Amino acid sequence: MTDEDQVGYVVKVAGPLVVARGLSDPKMYDLVRVGEERLMGEIIELRGDDASIQVYEETGGLGPGDPVFSTGMALAVELGPGLLESIYDGVQRPLDLIRDATGNYITRGMEMPGLSREKEWEFVPAVKDGEQVAEGNILGTVQETPVLEHRIMVPPGVKGRVSGIEGGRRKVTDVVAVVGEGPDAVELTMMQRWPVRKSRPFARKLTPVDPLTTGQRVIDTFFPVAKGGTACVPGPFGSGKTVIQHEIAKWADADVILFVGCGERGNEMTEVLIEFPELIDPYSSEPLMKRTVLIANTSNMPVAAREASVYTGVTIAEYYRDMGYNVALQADSTSRWAEALREISGRLEEMPGEEGYPAYLGSRIASFYERAGLVKCLGGNERLGSVTVVGSVSPPGGDLSEPVTQATLRVVKVFWALEDRLAFRRHFPAINWLISYSMYMERVSSRLAELVDPEFESLRSEAMALLQREAELEEIVRLVGLEALSTGERLTMEGAKSIREDFLQQNAFDEIDTFTSLKKQFLILKLVMTFYREAESALEAGAEIEEILSSPVRERIAAAKFIREESLEEFGELTRTVAKAMEDLVPEKAGGGPRRVEAAA
Ligand code: ADP
Repeated sequence: MTDEDQVGYVVKVAGPLVVARGLSDPKMYDLVRVGEERLMGEIIELRGDDASIQVYEETGGLGPGDPVFSTGMALAVELGPGLLESIYDGVQRPLDLIRDATGNYITRGMEMPGLSREKEWEFVPAVKDGEQVAEGNILGTVQETPVLEHRIMVPPGVKGRVSGIEGGRRKVTDVVAVVGEGPDAVELTMMQRWPVRKSRPFARKLTPVDPLTTGQRVIDTFFPVAKGGTACVPGPFGSGKTVIQHEIAKWADADVILFVGCGERGNEMTEVLIEFPELIDPYSSEPLMKRTVLIANTSNMPVAAREASVYTGVTIAEYYRDMGYNVALQADSTSRWAEALREISGRLEEMPGEEGYPAYLGSRIASFYERAGLVKCLGGNERLGSVTVVGSVSPPGGDLSEPVTQATLRVVKVFWALEDRLAFRRHFPAINWLISYSMYMERVSSRLAELVDPEFESLRSEAMALLQREAELEEIVRLVGLEALSTGERLTMEGAKSIREDFLQQNAFDEIDTFTSLKKQFLILKLVMTFYREAESALEAGAEIEEILSSPVRERIAAAKFIREESLEEFGELTRTVAKAMEDLVPEKAGGGPRRVEAAA
């Protein structure tokens, strides 16, 4: 730390906010140390000679006259091997290690680096002495966990000829190579520091096209998010936000997961802290933590740390993106983060905007989601990486017109509307299919056609049209009763019901149902739509609606979601059986030719 002798002093303490005077050359977002305990804080406002500082720890006991030390540096995170499997607080203090040291999560006055200084890593050089490198080039690799190779990159702004590069066991602070010569030579370690409020550089931003598959049918088929895209899940308490976020963390085809938890209640985050480390990665059978970084804020941690946590998270996400990985960052819930912003703004006595949130709420939310993206990385030959951001929002009372939800909807491209009405009926995931949307649909669906089946897109549109028709018919039924419907309309209602129950509903806690591959999603939807199409033809050809609706094949359609991924060939036979069962219900026409009965080959 530089210039720690430059001492200012506290003039006022208001909760997490401290006003200091006499700091030499204070700058916005500079990190400072407050009081004899050297509590960590960040300058968030400068007014005349006074600096307002948000303090990341309990400020009890601080008072006017206490010293404040400048560091001359911005709040930054340490980036290097050892991030994966870590559980941090909002300013990258390792909570698990702190707990081991003190028996609880209280961090006050605790100095503990984000990356272990003792741990050694096997560094494997990727370049040789004498080679020319530039920012973003990969100097070497470290097997960070069994599932992820960490790529040690030349930090932004550094270039030149490499010397002294050598493989072997290294600590993150050991020099692994020298880049440049003479006075420009820079000694590189495996660790970089990066200020959290500034996005990391890349060569170019690209339009996201590939789906981030989540194994959740309603998401992947109807409202997909692209790798490098943004999504939000607003929903009232108990509607299933956390379950969705966990399902995505478990099943998304991302290389790295960044989970930023801002606890609703004190104990909720504790649950995450206990539950997450126990999750098993279904792709590798290793603990999910082997490719996860967890950032946890319980509601009893200082609000300022919560405010910083999303930036800490997204900076780490960008760092793995720069190595060429697909990263999924999930923030649950961003409402708690916005509340921290509101509390700090109130302490600063800023002019409040809507519902007491600061006027810059919208721009802060936008600048967070803007750090998502698919990019061509610096220094890579066509190396691509992505950060996908999924934020949940907990609008009080489920009211989507409140400021945080509105500001979020203005910037994100996917909206999964969770509803307690559906959760009440045990329709999970409780995503309302009529008001949710994905602006990636068009681009992603052409990829789905390539990846899965060209028919996927038309099936999807047909199914969605049926669901919309159901909503209109429900209105009629409500007004004049079921009798008002024609047999064709009754069939429409039943077809839509089958889409809802046999396709959209998915039990996160069932061993098989918790994940559905894209291929299987297509096959279930095709099965459900085959029933509807064939039933419609049968009805037109004179079949009885009651017989169609009571056909035993419907039970088999309902059970199709439990067909194992290894047994997808069963779908061919099943789909043919459904078609034939409907055909068989058509009465033979007098004078007509023999009925076409194809054996299900
Ligand atoms: P929120 O985070 O919105 O308050 P949760 O995610 O905790 O809500 O979900 C509340 C409850 O709803 C869960 O404990 C679970 O019982 C049920 N639930 C939500 N989603 C699903 C799902 N996909 N499958 C089964 N149950 C679910």
